[in-house]
Amino acid sequence: MASVTLSGLTKSFGALQIIPDLDLTIADKEFVVLVGPSGCGKTTALRMIAGLEESSGGKISIGAKDVTSLRPGLRNIAMVFQNYALYPHMTVGANIGYGMKARGESPDAIKTAVAKAARIVALDKLLERRPKELSGGQRQRVAIARALVRDPDVFLFDEPLSNLDAKLRVEMRTEIRKLHRDLQATMIYVTHDQVEAMTLADRVVVMNGGRIEQAADPMTLYSRPANMFVAGFIGAPSMNFIEGAVVSGPNGAQIKLPGGGLLSSPHQFQGALAARVGQPVVLGIRPEHLIEGSDTQPLTMTVENVETLGSHRLLIGNLAGAPFTAQVSSGYKAIEGQTASVFPDIQHLHLFDATTKLSLLASE
Ligand code: ATP
Repeated sequence: MASVTLSGLTKSFGALQIIPDLDLTIADKEFVVLVGPSGCGKTTALRMIAGLEESSGGKISIGAKDVTSLRPGLRNIAMVFQNYALYPHMTVGANIGYGMKARGESPDAIKTAVAKAARIVALDKLLERRPKELSGGQRQRVAIARALVRDPDVFLFDEPLSNLDAKLRVEMRTEIRKLHRDLQATMIYVTHDQVEAMTLADRVVVMNGGRIEQAADPMTLYSRPANMFVAGFIGAPSMNFIEGAVVSGPNGAQIKLPGGGLLSSPHQFQGALAARVGQPVVLGIRPEHLIEGSDTQPLTMTVENVETLGSHRLLIGNLAGAPFTAQVSSGYKAIEGQTASVFPDIQHLHLFDATTKLSLLASE
């Protein structure tokens, strides 16, 4: 296995610059997920690593080797795609071993490698079946086994689960995570689904407009997002944002909420807020960080829709004109069209600079 280093990588399609300047090192044996909204350049980055797309500038290394101008076949990587494109007339075994056969490897070597790969993805009992006799998840496992027989330095995955239904996606997530644990392989995985990113990755790279917004382990991204983009992208339902202003109060800086209410500043922000009295800030509150009874300043939202999910309820509506969602217990009484009071858990508040959109924690 090997590390992967992208140094000053750029990509343009004609006059359109997709990736302005990408620097990223993926450690040996690390599972890194590139995540971001549609069109942010994550597939393009992955295809450049694979050699399927030429880079416009910069360097790609696998281990100590500069592979920037090496053709895909010489990079010793294996890629699993969203459309796994199995050969319908071939058995599972023949599909898995097809690449080895095409390279002229011996029937014995192919048989051994196919049996080993099939065992890893639990297809060893299905080697004689044809793709149409398999479920979606089993087909995706054939595609993974096809990558496994290559014994690559690096595995690349491009949205491999997006054609599967929700239940199967969850099962395959567990399998891919286990695969990583068993193989101790370097894996780079692209998805637009933040839940998939958070559950699979050792480290998540959040991309936007061809740039890295933040690269960190899932818990750091959730609890200390560097900016409003990451804060809004990671977590479901999304973080609520409320525009406020910093005012000075008897016990230090406070945040004036829309409607005039005052929120005392959590101690972790005291330093940053003291220097910002009179300035606007954006308050970030995750829906799950609202509590029902508290001595903190209540927030009053207008409830437009109540979603009952069994374990909890979501109140979806607005607060001072901005969209707002609160997660409350299943017994919480709320009526659509009326207001509801919820209390922010100030230990879990986030604050952002209204202009730069950066977290104020970073400036502490
Ligand atoms: P998605 O999740 O929708 O696949 P993505 O983040 O993977 O999105 P890319 O497929 O990398 O995005 O595409 C990034 C941008 O580059 C998009 O605006 C896309 O339209 C553009 N693009 C991709 N391939 C080409 C191409 N061959 N020619 C011109 N533009 C392209």
